[in-house]
Amino acid sequence: MKIYNTLSKRKEEFEPLEEGKVKMYVCGPTVYNLIHIGNARPMIVFDTVRRYMEHKGYEVNFVSNFTDVDDKIIKKAIEEGVEASVISERYIAECKKDMQALNVKEATTHPKATQEICGMLDMIGTLIEKGHAYVAEDGTVYYRTRSFKGYGKLSHKNIDDLQGGNRSLLVSGEDQKEDSLDFVLWKPKKDGEPYWESPWCDGRPGWHIECSVMSKRYLGDEIDIHAGGEDLIFPHHENEIAQSEAANGKPFAKYWMHNAFLNIDNRKMSKSAGNFFTVRDILQKYDPQVLRFFMLSAHYRSPLNFSAELMDAAGNGYERIVTSVSNLNYLLENAASDTMSDEEKKLAEEAEGFIAKFDEAMDDDFNTADAIAAIFDLVKFVNTNTDAGSSREYLNFLKEELVMLSDICGLIVEKKQEMLDSDIEALIKERQAARKEKNFQRADEIRNELLSKGIILEDTREGVKWKRA
Ligand code: AMP
Ligand code: ZN
Repeated sequence: MKIYNTLSKRKEEFEPLEEGKVKMYVCGPTVYNLIHIGNARPMIVFDTVRRYMEHKGYEVNFVSNFTDVDDKIIKKAIEEGVEASVISERYIAECKKDMQALNVKEATTHPKATQEICGMLDMIGTLIEKGHAYVAEDGTVYYRTRSFKGYGKLSHKNIDDLQGGNRSLLVSGEDQKEDSLDFVLWKPKKDGEPYWESPWCDGRPGWHIECSVMSKRYLGDEIDIHAGGEDLIFPHHENEIAQSEAANGKPFAKYWMHNAFLNIDNRKMSKSAGNFFTVRDILQKYDPQVLRFFMLSAHYRSPLNFSAELMDAAGNGYERIVTSVSNLNYLLENAASDTMSDEEKKLAEEAEGFIAKFDEAMDDDFNTADAIAAIFDLVKFVNTNTDAGSSREYLNFLKEELVMLSDICGLIVEKKQEMLDSDIEALIKERQAARKEKNFQRADEIRNELLSKGIILEDTREGVKWKRA
């Protein structure tokens, strides 16, 4: 399995630190609003990486944080006249709903920055002790960037070029820095803001320190994969490396993966630019699976432009797989025989070749576009090599393969049969009749059967009403 490593700018063979295990950290969202579909790209992409690694037999420890203390969260809390935690908890809950809709697996651990302050104080203390950080007069703690020899190795920047470029960016209040490149680890509180006590001042952490600390706490000093959107390469991930490696004295992450942007009209989708759609907006119009399919239809390192045409194309592509599975289910209900014929055995062997094609694409730095092409090849094979005479064993074999490959992409392709209105009404009639005959057992059975299919009955004065849950 080859992974493109931002650190070396090359595809490298994946070799885990510990055999059979993967320790993976993905930078999560800042929770002050509903997430937009740009934020959903890393979620979907790295969930697919995780699923593929699990399919390969790795045990994946997947950690993804929520940044729940930040200027934008505090600003919104002040606007609404509530505590910052009210805002962050609200949007963590909403983000989790979106992730569930997009079939993104729950992380093994979803830490929140505000719950990890102790670890941050510890790491900042270590950095000060080791001479990598210093305390300014007002209690701000800065990282001494030049003290870390490897600074710039991830973003492939030369520290002296940064120096020149950044001098003019020195903003007011930061004039206590020894060097314009130094960045904040801890800063003093301001009125009305959340704060924590520390040896240096009452205050709150800078942004970068949280990921170094959470990664260390839940995965250890050295991890296999660290990932996020490409806007995080500099300065966020560069600063994480400087913090973690200086504090722990060990290399931090072996492989650094970064997804390219989701754009609109070839510009990065972002909240600050105002050119965004929330996941919620999109789910008003499209099946969440179509959004997931759309995201995977391009390689994760290629920019992806969002448009209605591409979403429609994604919808058609997704439907092709769903229809093929539903055709197989139809044939299965009426299969002519149970076991595979010799001819079917040969065809089944041929169909297995599509798994190899799928794996080959995914082994090449998770080329989901080619992996989906392999699923389409299988769909075509299924559609041309099955009919009413096929055996149950053969049909099941094909269906399992199709569902398995789709599932590695996180695509749900077997639709649960929704009950038709006419079927529901027929059952309600039967229940009424049972009640008339005082056959309450049957009446309850019908109510429960409907409930298990998400249909809720309500006995009103005007008769029985029903709704879908
Ligand atoms: P943020 O909430 O801005 O910290 O972003 C959370 C994650 O979404 C980070 O990994 C970002 O790199 C990623 N991200 C934000 N906007 C986009 C975009 N337009 N396309 C792809 N990834 C994005
Ligand atoms: Zn991070």
